[in-house]
Amino acid sequence: MSDAMKNTRRAVLIVSGGMDSCVLSYYYAAAGFNLHLLSFDYGQRHLKELDYAKRYIEHLRQRYSSGPQALEILHETIELPIARLSPNSTSALLNADVEMPHGHYSDDNMKITVVPYRNPNMLLQAATVAWNEGASVIAYAAHAGDHSQYPDCRPAFVEAFNTMLARSMDDNTVTVEVPFMRFTKAQIARLGASLGVPFEQTWSCYEGGEQHCGLCGTCVERREAFLLAGVPDPTVYEREPDPSVYER
Ligand SMILES: [Zn+2]
Repeated sequence: MSDAMKNTRRAVLIVSGGMDSCVLSYYYAAAGFNLHLLSFDYGQRHLKELDYAKRYIEHLRQRYSSGPQALEILHETIELPIARLSPNSTSALLNADVEMPHGHYSDDNMKITVVPYRNPNMLLQAATVAWNEGASVIAYAAHAGDHSQYPDCRPAFVEAFNTMLARSMDDNTVTVEVPFMRFTKAQIARLGASLGVPFEQTWSCYEGGEQHCGLCGTCVERREAFLLAGVPDPTVYEREPDPSVYER
């Protein structure tokens, strides 16, 4: 395959160790895109998610990197000094002294898991890589459930970011795509199941302990997604939340 051909269907994806990012990677690979996957060490408390990104990407490569239709799948982890530049952070993801909130992910107390300007920081790195490689698509796995807490996952942010990209370069060719923008996490779980993604190789929990804690906002969201999707949840959780947390 020539470099020009490689780049016509090439996407740069921002991927964490979580299930949404994993499904995103499979979604673009299934559509025949060569991939450059970027993970970020921004000083997050649950750094272990980066090991899980490596695990499911290895699985992805086994599936899509051989045979006549083999895709190129590159992966790298980029350090972003977000935690270092935020010594006074009140975000529970950056400051281990801030107690991780338990409960439903749409609760107001989940706002302390916001990392200021995280997605714009990551997307700019992705745009730089995409420009360098002639890829026209950059994407991340924001979904409808993220909108209430995370402004940089909302449609208005994506629209503004694309405007900024277009005005940053006179001959800009890079656009952010968010294919799951209107999906619930349960719909992502269902899509992932249909693509055969290895959910057991993904990590969601913000606590970053030995196993998923079962109680933090992202653990509750993960469990609820599998339940609503009717997809078996392979995750081992340390504790069971009060079932009423799901009844919203
Ligand atoms: Zn958790």
